[in-house]
Amino acid sequence: MREQFPFFKAHPELVYLDTAATSQKPQVLLDAIQNYYVNDNANVHRGLYKLAYDTTEAYENVRQQVAGFLGAASADEIIFTRGTTDSLNLVASAYGPQVVTAGSQIVVTGAEHHSNFIPWQQLAKRQQATFTVTPVKPDGTVDIAALLAAITPQTKVVAVAQVTNVAGDTLPIAKIAAKAHAVGAVVVVDGAQAVAHLAVDVQAMGADFYAFSGHKIYGPTGIGVLYGR
Ligand code: PLP
Repeated sequence: MREQFPFFKAHPELVYLDTAATSQKPQVLLDAIQNYYVNDNANVHRGLYKLAYDTTEAYENVRQQVAGFLGAASADEIIFTRGTTDSLNLVASAYGPQVVTAGSQIVVTGAEHHSNFIPWQQLAKRQQATFTVTPVKPDGTVDIAALLAAITPQTKVVAVAQVTNVAGDTLPIAKIAAKAHAVGAVVVVDGAQAVAHLAVDVQAMGADFYAFSGHKIYGPTGIGVLYGR
C-alpha cells in the first residue's frame, strides 16, 4: 500500500493518520493528472476539434462513473463542484430559497460539519425560518430518535451526514428520508466521510442531494460532486 504513495518515499518515517481530513495521493492519480495536461488538454464542452471532443468524452465518462459509484439513476443527476463544502453551499443557496420560506423549518444534527451546518443556519436566518439542531448523545453519536422527532410538517430540509466526523457513526438515512419525505421535506446528505468506507446507494437510501469531496478519497483537492435526484 505504501509503495503506491510517493509521499511515503519522501517521509519513510511517517505513519499518516489524517486520511479522514485529506488523503495522500497515489501515483496512479498523479500520473493521470500529469498525462492529461501533457497529452490531452483541451477545453471541455467548448472546442470544435477532435482533441476537445476526446476530452469532453473523457469528462462525461467520469460523470457516468460517478453516477455508478453513487447508484444514481442517471449521469444527468451528477454535477462537479469544488468539494463537499461547495456542493452543500450550492444546494443551500440555489435550491434552498425555493423551498424554505418564512415559517419553514430546517433540521440538522449537532454532529454536522460546519459545511453542512452554517449554510443552513444562514439560509434559515435569511428566510426567517426555524433552524433546529438535534442533540448528540454523551458519546458523540447522533440521537436518532430525537432527530426523527424533530421533523414536523413545517420541515422543508433535513441536512445530515451519512457518517459523522465527530464519532464516526453511520446514520440510518433511509429511515430519516422516509420520515422527511412523509412531510414533503428533502434530505441533503453530506457523504464526505461515507464514500471512502461504505457502498453508497443514493436511491436505496432516499437521498435527494448527496455531496462528497475528491481529496478525501485519493483524488485531487478542489474537485467535488453533487448528486441531485
Ligand atoms: N463534511 C464532513 C463530514 C467532513 O468531514 C468534511 C471535511 O472534513 C467536510 C464536510 C468538508 O469537506 P471539504 O473541506 O472537502 O469541503
